Amino acid sequence: MEFDLEIFKTQGVKLNYYYVCKRKLWLFDKGISMEHNSDRVLQGKVVHENSYTRANTKEVLIDNMIKIDILDKDYVKEVKISSKMEESDRKQLLYYLYYLKALGINKKGTINYVKEKKVEEIELTPQDEMEIEAALIDIKSILKKDKPPGAIKAPYCKKCAYYEFCYVKEEE
Ligand code: SF4
Repeated sequence: MEFDLEIFKTQGVKLNYYYVCKRKLWLFDKGISMEHNSDRVLQGKVVHENSYTRANTKEVLIDNMIKIDILDKDYVKEVKISSKMEESDRKQLLYYLYYLKALGINKKGTINYVKEKKVEEIELTPQDEMEIEAALIDIKSILKKDKPPGAIKAPYCKKCAYYEFCYVKEEE
């Protein structure tokens, strides 16, 4: 059966959280938003406000679903503070490329990691497309559940905006 993006499409940030932590994805989706408390998010906002001030196109919102930092003739360009969450950042950009392709727009992508002064170039492959579709199906089924998935106890939990929410009881 052909995959129907209209049924499974989601916001880019949710696809990113899916790869970071499925519990975080669920909590965010339910409006339990504590991201304003996170230094990382604040840092990210500062980076975005000060980066690429001369770029022609900034922060393009498409379908109310994907928010692209910079869109030019050939590339979707994302700006990230550091490469600490490289895999989820890559997947999010691949999702943007996939989404644009579904709209008939073919682009390549780059991620600019500001701290490391490193730029990674990304191209969407048929394998990536299949992985994105599988992730979107899984995201829909996670978000239908009444309860969040369990905490994952990852090294980056301490930097997560939901840290207290997830672990405060355990530490009492
Ligand atoms: S603190 Fe850890 S388990 Fe809890 S939402 Fe964040 S990443 Fe997931």
